[in-house]
Order: sequence, then C-alpha cells, then structure tokens
Amino acid sequence: MTTGTSSGTSGSPAPLQITVIGCAGSYSSAYSSCSSYLVRTSSTAVLLDAGPGSSIELQKHIDLAEIDAIIVSHEHPDHWTELPSLYHAYRFGLARPHVPVYGTAGTRLLLDAACSEATAYTFDWTTIDEDSTPKIGDIDFSFSLTDHPVETLAIRAESGGYSIGYSADTGPGWSPEAFAAPIDLLVYEASLRIDMEELGIPHISGRQAGRRATSADVRHLVLTHIPPGEVHDDRVAAARAEFAGPIDLAVPGRTFTPASV
Ligand SMILES: [Zn+2]
Ligand SMILES: [Zn+2]
Repeated sequence: MTTGTSSGTSGSPAPLQITVIGCAGSYSSAYSSCSSYLVRTSSTAVLLDAGPGSSIELQKHIDLAEIDAIIVSHEHPDHWTELPSLYHAYRFGLARPHVPVYGTAGTRLLLDAACSEATAYTFDWTTIDEDSTPKIGDIDFSFSLTDHPVETLAIRAESGGYSIGYSADTGPGWSPEAFAAPIDLLVYEASLRIDMEELGIPHISGRQAGRRATSADVRHLVLTHIPPGEVHDDRVAAARAEFAGPIDLAVPGRTFTPASV
C-alpha cells in the first residue's frame, strides 16, 4: 500500500482528493478558519462544512461557480456559519440560484433563523440523516451518526474505487467502523489532549483517533479540529502510538489523495 499526498492545486487530477480549507477546532486561529474541506474529482467539487471565514481560503483553490454542492455535518457554528456569506456570493455576486446544500434538520433551522433568504432564493436545501446516500456528480456520499450532543454526521465520499472519510465532530462513542464500507483516508478530529480524555467533552484525543483508525483498518490518517494554541505535534505523537500507517496534520491549503496498492 502506498498513499500519495500533494500540496496546493498543481499536479494531475486525482480520482478523488480532499483539500483542507479550514481546520481550527471550535474557533478560528490566526492561521486557519474553522472547519471546511473541499472534496474533488476531475469533474465534481463538493464543499464539506462551511466554518466561519472559510470562503477566503476556499477561493484560493476554486472559483465558487465551480462548486457543485455543499454538505454540512452539523449545526454547531464552527461548521456552518459561512453559509450566509456564501449565499450573498451566489445571489449577489454570481447570480446563481439553485445551489444544492445538504445538512441536518437542526442546521436548516439555524440557517433560516439567521438568514431565511438563503433557502428562499439561492440554496436548494436537502435535509439529510445517517440513512441518506446522495450522489453528487461522480461522488457517492454516505453518512454515519457520531457521538456528539447534536445530530452530527460523519461523511464518507467514494469515487473511482477510492474513499475519503471526514469524522466531523465526535466523542469516543463513534468509530469509523460504523461507516458501511472501509475508508482509505480519514480526516479525523483530534480536539483533545490525552489528559482531557476522561472529562466528558464530546471530542476525542489523537490517541483515541489512532486507536479507532487502526480498528477500522483506515490506511491514512489526517488529524484535524485541533484548538488554536494547542501543540499539534502532541496529537500526532499520541496517534502514532496507536496507528502504524501514515499520519498527517490538516493544514489550510494542503491536499490529500488516497491511493491504493
Ligand atoms: Zn467543531
Ligand atoms: Zn460540534
């Protein structure tokens, strides 16, 4: 097994790849917005989460007009509150109606409370749950309900025989084994230090991420959602003690590509 990674937007089109747009946990750092990831093939582009401030980095990688759909994992504000800004861009800048947006029922309620015009004029909203299986372009999506205080959907993307997973936010009660099929590359949250594992916070540590990735036979682990000010290398070291495969840190602008043997 080999696993390829690449940086930036150069290089030949991959069968399936994920670019980190924003990865800071819970609030933005000086270097990263909150959660947002761009999943692409040569013909399809789907944004996973739209954390606050993420459209700045996003537009360094893709023209907003080229995004086929947006999927939001859950209603916590660090994962969706760029949507009103994107609505402005699509309605007043690009004059593009009918932008497909997928999200949980709770996210829809909060979006409508914040900016009801978004779904009235621009976003074609589809409420999803863990049983939803939308196909967007040439990417098949499926979901798994995580261990988090609100309905939160881990996201699995598959195309051309490759698969990428994104855990969204989760406590230790969820494992990538819960996906209906294996994952080649998993972007997995590692919000907590090891000394915080027993505090009942609905997130996990790098050690817990590594342990669960091993159980699920994940090939390549990318750690994310680390709070500003935390030592990122600590998360990698904690995961490495439990996971033998390649481990990377999510960094804005970095692209990861799963590759099979
Ligand atoms: Zn979060
Ligand atoms: Zn959350």
